[in-house]
Amino acid sequence: MIQMTDGIRVENGYLIYMNYGALDRGEQEKAYPIGQALLDFLEIDFSEQEEFRQYAIRLLNDRAEMAQYVEKIQELIDRNQFMTTRTLFLHDEDIASAEEEAIKELAFNTYFYPKFTQLEHPYFKNLELGAVTSSDPSKVIINLSNFEGLKSRYLELIRFACDVDFRDDFKSLTPQERYYIYRNSFREELSSDEMSVRSTFIMLPPIDNLPESDHRLFYTQSNDPFDFKPSPITPETIAYTKTLGARGFFAFHASTLSEFVYLEAMSMIQNNVKIRKCKNCGRYFILKGNYGAQYCDRIAPGASQNCQTVGAQREYKSKVNSDPVLKEYARVYKRYYARTKNGRMSMSAFEAWSTAAQGKRAGYLSGAISADAFIEWLSQDGVESK
Ligand SMILES: [Zn+2]
Repeated sequence: MIQMTDGIRVENGYLIYMNYGALDRGEQEKAYPIGQALLDFLEIDFSEQEEFRQYAIRLLNDRAEMAQYVEKIQELIDRNQFMTTRTLFLHDEDIASAEEEAIKELAFNTYFYPKFTQLEHPYFKNLELGAVTSSDPSKVIINLSNFEGLKSRYLELIRFACDVDFRDDFKSLTPQERYYIYRNSFREELSSDEMSVRSTFIMLPPIDNLPESDHRLFYTQSNDPFDFKPSPITPETIAYTKTLGARGFFAFHASTLSEFVYLEAMSMIQNNVKIRKCKNCGRYFILKGNYGAQYCDRIAPGASQNCQTVGAQREYKSKVNSDPVLKEYARVYKRYYARTKNGRMSMSAFEAWSTAAQGKRAGYLSGAISADAFIEWLSQDGVESK
């Protein structure tokens, strides 16, 4: 399940997770719009994990009461089935003597909460197992596993820098300019994440041109199957290189959750990604081109239509309620429709009227027909027939 990336590159509005060891070519490069994985991460509920972490911290600070917290943690494990059997040894009689080891195991399991590694989320799919190994397990528990803390830190940051509705006096500023203010106005709590994201410069052809191996052309194999020696530069290697289209880019190497989050948040700022809270479901979405968009295109839980459709209907309704002309149109429409029910108007006559009325309404909405002319037309009881 967990696979290490060869790196992450930022290209044309996407974060591309590279994993050239994957057997399936479709898995070798996975592209996510910059900001999407971070917004998804911010919506994950880590409250059970946080509860677990709090017990772990208390266990760490109050070793006299260790047995009590071990019991609490065991209850949590039984209730949620989210952990492996690795922590079950905490029940051992000789727990006090194995204290440090117990905490180390706890740290490991807090972080590698299998429930989260099973998420179809690029951070959790690409976390490095080795990253939790620390000589100071208490540090692992306190820092690395604080998912809720990480969430609130970055929620505050992207709200400040990227949320177009955050402050009226920020309207003219880009996310980069807003982040400049942020950096100068707040303590630099992000600096520890910043320090640890490494990058290397990589030369690679586009994925479709990616060769199985360059070895045959660039290296000669001696009798020893593991001994390759560089070949001379030949017309073949030159011509081959020309067709390959290899290009260079910086690949970032994130291994802990905070590094993935940091890399993505900074990419959002660098690319001036703007976000807004959807007026229907309340979740953040990325604004693409049309900065006036008020609704996201996801289907809210329990709904059958996406938020854009729900929003368009809602806006039309509120427009009708605030516009006396449209209100009159709706009133006349209902009146005529009622007549088809009591037999005072035929359905075909109603349909003819309705088609004409919709044309007039469109004309009114576009400004081609004045309000007075539309009202006047609606008041003609011309099509009424018995
Ligand atoms: Zn929505």
